[in-house]
Amino acid sequence: MRERFLRQIILKGVGEGGQEKLFSSKVLVVGAGATGCAQAEVLARMGVGEIRIVDPDTVEESNLHRQFCYSDEDLGAFKVERALKRLEKIHPHIKVLGALGRIEEVWRDVAPGVDIILDGTDCMSAREFINEVSVHLSIPWIFTGVAGSFGQSVLLSPDGPCLRCFMEESITPLTCDTEGVYPTAAVALSMVAAHTAVKYLLGRGKEELGVMKVLDMEHWTLSRVKINPWRECSLHAKRRFRRISSFKGDDINIEGG
Ligand SMILES: [Zn+2]
Repeated sequence: MRERFLRQIILKGVGEGGQEKLFSSKVLVVGAGATGCAQAEVLARMGVGEIRIVDPDTVEESNLHRQFCYSDEDLGAFKVERALKRLEKIHPHIKVLGALGRIEEVWRDVAPGVDIILDGTDCMSAREFINEVSVHLSIPWIFTGVAGSFGQSVLLSPDGPCLRCFMEESITPLTCDTEGVYPTAAVALSMVAAHTAVKYLLGRGKEELGVMKVLDMEHWTLSRVKINPWRECSLHAKRRFRRISSFKGDDINIEGG
């Protein structure tokens, strides 16, 4: 096993101790599309010990130009099922778990116990939901959005900044569906997110918290924007959950309103 990670263990920022941390880490990837697949795959290759992945969809032909987990033979199959098979092949010694469904339906089964949640969705309502789960369960998460040749990624904390601190709920950002997307941009932003996750898992999350990386591959600019917690934030500061209370059978204690 050690041989597999030699080039990683000799990194100053990793070492034997860091590799052990990755082995004992658990992550949840929400969405098995372009960004979810790429994030899950590189984290599996790096030896993250447990990877959980959630997705409700089947593989469509229009996915194949950018979703590296799938090929023609996967058309019509559930993404979660095929993504798990691929991750198992990539690294048979890690634990991979999948849940078929939307995060809103399966979060209670998959979110508790993970160290970090990664956003592989292309959907603001799912991200708002992940944000509430993050605050409710005290799990940090990484927001990642890509459209065209442009995207951004940022580590968010249940203690702030959270998504609500800097993004209005009514906002409708550009998506792959409306703008199209370069597979190159989707993978590049996925690597930014996965690298941020690894730094967090290695104990260097503080330097990443609230630092939004903004990449524009058309003009080759990469910038950083620092997001600070908003003291009046209705979610992380006032704990007014709106989404995780709206699903039937929810028995958690919801505060505020
Ligand atoms: Zn907040």
